[in-house]
Amino acid sequence: MREAIPKLYIVIPCYNEEEILEQSLDILSDKIKRLVSEKKAAEGSRVVCVDDGSKDATWDVIVRRAEKDSQVLGFKFSRNYGHQNAILAGMLESRKAADCVVTIDADLQQDIEAMDDFLARYMEGCDVVYGIRNDRNTDKAGKKFTAEAFYKMMRLMGADIIPNSADYRLLSKKALEALADHPESNLFLRGLIPTMGFKSGVVYFDVKDRTGGQSKYTLKKMLSLALNGVTSMSTRPLELIIVLGLLFCLMALVIFILSMIDWARGVVVQGWTTTVALLCLIGGMNLLTNGIVGLYVGKSYIEAKRRPRYIIDHAIWDGDGTVDDSGSDSERNFRGGDGS
Ligand code: UDP
Ligand code: MG
Repeated sequence: MREAIPKLYIVIPCYNEEEILEQSLDILSDKIKRLVSEKKAAEGSRVVCVDDGSKDATWDVIVRRAEKDSQVLGFKFSRNYGHQNAILAGMLESRKAADCVVTIDADLQQDIEAMDDFLARYMEGCDVVYGIRNDRNTDKAGKKFTAEAFYKMMRLMGADIIPNSADYRLLSKKALEALADHPESNLFLRGLIPTMGFKSGVVYFDVKDRTGGQSKYTLKKMLSLALNGVTSMSTRPLELIIVLGLLFCLMALVIFILSMIDWARGVVVQGWTTTVALLCLIGGMNLLTNGIVGLYVGKSYIEAKRRPRYIIDHAIWDGDGTVDDSGSDSERNFRGGDGS
């Protein structure tokens, strides 16, 4: 059980969201005011916009907003680092100032009223609260199918994640500090956060239609997330290679015995087809398995470089955040060209 009302930071990743961001910020700003007045969140709670290298006017929207609304903070990446890195950055940069952080998509498809429940679980002592979506009826058929296939494949491949747990969740300061100790570049938060442990809770929420703009999760981004999810959470594909290899050795043995029988019976020209078929098959298997091993080697290579997971170009931040290092407590700091 917790006593003190927490300072809540709401993190929203934004990639080309100029069409809906203004409206979303209105809603979130109101929501924070309501939470504060209902004594569910403390004064000083904020909305943090992470501009993931948008090519449209998203950053201008954030700057304009931050100038007149002290509740809104933000920073802009130097380029597009992807959704996972955007929410990671928002959480990590907020962890000094906030008692807890909730991440939510810029299109606010997730029901913001669930935040009350998130905070209630937090007060009950949970350090991690997962948002779990009630159904996928509002998704287009294609999205629903790919999402379901994604969770099935993940489980099959040994990455145990809670199905339909979107990146809508609450982390306490303690959990955020633990998260900061995970330096991996191959980020898959949905898989990573459950491995950290801590007392956790779940909150069910409804999903609405996107009110404006297009989904920013292209098929390419989804595939990359799925691949990252599997390869960052499990090495089962490597184990499957061994099973596959054994299977083929067994098959080869059977074929060898069969051809020996053929040889004993004097029919030798036969089996040409089998030879060619096997050649193709084994060649194919070789390429495939090498590819899987290569995938992991490639990942190790990326991890070994230890490159920063994101680079911040511009920032608008309060004195007590981690983004700005100028140390002043009361002033709002505008760093970088657009903001100053
Ligand atoms: N997003 C991001 N970087 C990207 C792609 C998406 O920060 O490279 C953000 C996007 O602005 C949104 C969230 O991730 O806030 C989820 O994206 P979207 O709503 O387009 O995905 P969907 O709901 O269709 O899965
Ligand atoms: Mg969305």
